[in-house]
Amino acid sequence: MTVLASGSKGNSTVIASAHTRLLVDAGLSCRELLKRMAIANEDPAALDAILITHEHQDHIAGLAVLARRLRIPVFITEPTHRAWVRMVTPRTTMTYAQWLDHVQKEKDARAQAAAAAQTTTEPGAPRLDSETWERGATKLGAPSMTVSSSWVGSGATEPIAVSAESDPDEVDEPAAPKPDPAYLPAVEYFHSGNPCGFVFESRSEAVRMAIATDLGYMPPNVKSALKRIDVLLLESNHDLEMLRDGPYPWAVKQRVLSRVGHLSNHATAEFLARDYDGGATYIVLGHLSEANNAPELALISAEQAIAGRMSLLGNRLILAQQSAPLTPICL
Ligand SMILES: [Zn+2]
Repeated sequence: MTVLASGSKGNSTVIASAHTRLLVDAGLSCRELLKRMAIANEDPAALDAILITHEHQDHIAGLAVLARRLRIPVFITEPTHRAWVRMVTPRTTMTYAQWLDHVQKEKDARAQAAAAAQTTTEPGAPRLDSETWERGATKLGAPSMTVSSSWVGSGATEPIAVSAESDPDEVDEPAAPKPDPAYLPAVEYFHSGNPCGFVFESRSEAVRMAIATDLGYMPPNVKSALKRIDVLLLESNHDLEMLRDGPYPWAVKQRVLSRVGHLSNHATAEFLARDYDGGATYIVLGHLSEANNAPELALISAEQAIAGRMSLLGNRLILAQQSAPLTPICL
């Protein structure tokens, strides 16, 4: 297991056996993920697939770009995939009132373009004019790509040509076909509640690893899934007091504390003290909140939970980092 990033600002972990190499979540930009894989000596080209736990930004931020770049399939639940597609696809439908408003804006834009065309094609017209005008165009065309491009095609030929001399990239952009932002090389649905965690097992190597984060509480099915695990990445999101006194608005605090929120240090310690079977060689504490937790607090809390059980003395506790990859954990 190589934790590339773990925390409220981005999560991604490589899980590998002798035969299979998977990336669980892609919650940083593609560039940052590749950078961290390089630091951790993980070859991106060796990845077989990307698995997604759920559609929150801290788990999917780099998904599309990375999957396309590596040309590997994405394993995801259908509801998570749908939610993600909705998130990344610009809205193209509008109400009738919006449409009327839109038509009016389009008309105004054409009039403005005609006026601007006159200004910018005048000899010696300053470059600034065309820039100002382009900004205006973007704003007016904003609600949908169709409007923006049809407008560019009809009214803006001349000024576009003027700025083409100084910045060809910028000009080519509106005419180029926009790639589908939700395109993935291959999508494989699996069935699960939504969101989910994973237990990975390599039978030939007799090794089991698990990732369990973004848990509002420890449901019985998760408790029973986390048995006989050799490397366990477990959420220890917040310190209850820091959350209570911290900067989050009340409604957000309530959500973090709820059953669809995150596991507190206390809840994680409770699991380790009461329900955990003690079989892991490594317990990695992850998904720490930057605003509402301190690494020392998470660590002490888990250490105390383990110290109470003699059988757990062989367990090694590691803190996953937000800002840098962990050294690969090898069994
Ligand atoms: Zn998360």
